[in-house]
Amino acid sequence: MPPVVKHLGGCAPAVADIHDQWRRKKFLLQSKFCYPGLDGRVRSWLVASNENPADGPLKLGCRLCLKLLGPAAAVKSRTLAAFPTASPEMLRVHKLMRHEQQKQHLKAVEMLTGDGGCAPFAPSKEAFKKVWSDVRRRNQDADFKEKERIISWCLAESIRHFQRQHLKKSTCISLSQDASQTRQLIRFASVDDKFECITGVLGPVKNVNTTSSV
Ligand SMILES: [Zn+2]
Repeated sequence: MPPVVKHLGGCAPAVADIHDQWRRKKFLLQSKFCYPGLDGRVRSWLVASNENPADGPLKLGCRLCLKLLGPAAAVKSRTLAAFPTASPEMLRVHKLMRHEQQKQHLKAVEMLTGDGGCAPFAPSKEAFKKVWSDVRRRNQDADFKEKERIISWCLAESIRHFQRQHLKKSTCISLSQDASQTRQLIRFASVDDKFECITGVLGPVKNVNTTSSV
């Protein structure tokens, strides 16, 4: 038997097994690992994707940690926030209890649900201004901790949102490219019908085969 066929023969039942195990344990686990929502309803933080085996490998994760970190940071986190491919080990209660006691998860519960009698909160305007100032001055001494990193991510996302909204209504856009070896940076200037102009960066592109700049 060819090696690939032999591998698929052993692999397919394993995929079906984990889906089957999840189906059997889902209610129990989701009832145990939950959090109080702001609307008073209790929900489980443990959620799955690809519950239908035809959609691919089952993935399990924590919706609160994903929301706290954001998709980009969650992928690098190596926690349930990254929604890794499920394994029988991940369905064990003590494993999930360990995640529930992690600092990151507790913070997510506190920040996103207001659990424990705390009202949901956001950092003060002063905290946002301080991080913005450090970012603008490229303050190398600024030792960004987790909270400051989240604030800087929020600021970056809000700027991107503002730029996208402006680009949607722009009447004229110019692009300029800075290329260096295999890297390329694309900047833009956008003007709307009220002559409001903004400039920004569309993004860097790697592995571009060009040495010219426009
Ligand atoms: Zn979590």
